[in-house]
Amino acid sequence: MQELKGKAAIVTGASRGIGAEAARELAGHGVSVVLAARSADQSAAVADDIAKTGGRAIAVSCDVSRYDQVAAAVETCRDRFGSVDILINNAGVIDPISRIAESDPDQWAHAVDINLKGVYNGIRAVLPAMEAQGGGVIVNISSGAATNALEGWSHYCATKAAVLSLTRCTDKEVRDKGIRVIGLSPGTVATDMQRSIKASGINPVSALDWEDHIKPDWPARAIAYLCTEAAADLVGTDFSLKTEEGRRRIGLID
Ligand code: NAP
Repeated sequence: MQELKGKAAIVTGASRGIGAEAARELAGHGVSVVLAARSADQSAAVADDIAKTGGRAIAVSCDVSRYDQVAAAVETCRDRFGSVDILINNAGVIDPISRIAESDPDQWAHAVDINLKGVYNGIRAVLPAMEAQGGGVIVNISSGAATNALEGWSHYCATKAAVLSLTRCTDKEVRDKGIRVIGLSPGTVATDMQRSIKASGINPVSALDWEDHIKPDWPARAIAYLCTEAAADLVGTDFSLKTEEGRRRIGLID
């Protein structure tokens, strides 16, 4: 992890859950972090915590569905920290969970704006700077939903499948420019998103016990690992944290 020291990263959806934990983890390895989410107060509280432990972090108000706001977050990163070496495309929503026949077309489209277009916006905004720098790392937070169909989750499954496609397409375009693009499928994680899923009662994931979920520090540690050269062989793929093999590779289990 020594190679992460001195790098600058943007983590989207860093106001809570996996994103907040990833920001803490990266900062702990000496990465300067821009925390980007809509709830600026919550992100600022996480940034303050990071600063108290000696890390460098700033929070910006950013709705990833708005390209101008994502581009502004990238500019903030470059202005304050001198570069943008890492992008963690983590912001995502699963609400509202509903079967297609009862779904609200505007809300369905809004999930596409956040989960898919938000990831595109991040990639589009950082690539020119990363190409000019001669390298960088982009981690797109994926899901088992990218390759599985689940009732009530059509917006989520469809957008996560599309994000996997974006990971593959972006890798094709930038691998030879020293930019590594990798997806992370974390398995189920104990965050607010799982509380919504539980409350929906709509498919087998909602029937899981809270204890079945991993804690956010595991995907956070996986994200930091994926930012290192040790993960270079994983470019253009979704790395799964559901398997023992994946967990062992990160050092989460013996
Ligand atoms: P979470 O606790 O609900 O956090 C979601 C984060 O995304 C929040 O920080 C939220 O911040 C942010 N966000 C939502 N809409 C946004 C927008 N328009 N612009 C900027 N930020 C936005 O969920 P989580 O479990 O940590 O999920 C993080 C990622 O992991 C998501 O991509 C999710 O699909 C993926 N994932 C989660 C699980 C799981 O079991 N939890 C499993 C597989 C994949 P604001 O509301 O402040 O904007």
